[in-house]
Amino acid sequence: MGENILIYCGNCYKSKDNLFKDDEYEIINGKFVLLKNNAFKKSFTLGGGFISPESIFYGKYFKKPIIFDLIKKKSIKEDIKNLIKNNAKIIDAYHSIYFCPKCHDISNKYYFKMEFNGVYEPKYYCRYCKSKLENIDYELENEEKVIFKNIKEETIEISCKKCGSNNLLMEHLAFWD
Ligand SMILES: [Zn+2]
Ligand SMILES: [Zn+2]
Repeated sequence: MGENILIYCGNCYKSKDNLFKDDEYEIINGKFVLLKNNAFKKSFTLGGGFISPESIFYGKYFKKPIIFDLIKKKSIKEDIKNLIKNNAKIIDAYHSIYFCPKCHDISNKYYFKMEFNGVYEPKYYCRYCKSKLENIDYELENEEKVIFKNIKEETIEISCKKCGSNNLLMEHLAFWD
C-alpha cells in the first residue's frame, strides 16, 4: 500500500487554493523564472505500491528491473547489480522520507533491505552538505499536522525556511495499493 502526499507550511499557505498555484514561477520575457520562494511545499511518494518488491528487483517485464529507475546513485546501482546476481533475499522495500541531521533538508528516496553475506541498506547523502541521511517517518496530529519521527520514535523538528514555522500540514494527493 502506498500514498502520494503533499506536505506544506500551514503558515505560508493559509489557503489551500494557493497550494496548487504556480506561485514559485514568474514568466519573464516568455521564460519561466524560478522565484526565491522557500515556503515549505514538497510532495512525496510513500510506501510499497502495487508492484511487489520481488518484481521491482527481479521482474523481467522490461529490459531491466524497475529498481534501476527508482535509484539514481551509480554506486548503489552497482551494489544492486551484485545483489541481484547473487539472488539476495529482499527483506524490506518501500518509498520513504529521508532527513539530513545537519541542514534539516528532507527528500523522497527508495529504502530497501536485502540479505546476502550480511544485510545491505542503501546509504544516501545530503545534496547540500553531504551528511548521511536518516530514514524517517511521519505521524499526524489532529488529522493534518505532520510530526516527523526517527526510527527511535523521537520527534524531529523540521520547519519552513521562509517563515520558521513548524506548523507543517499534510494533504493527500492519491492512495494506491
Ligand atoms: Zn512558512
Ligand atoms: Zn545536509
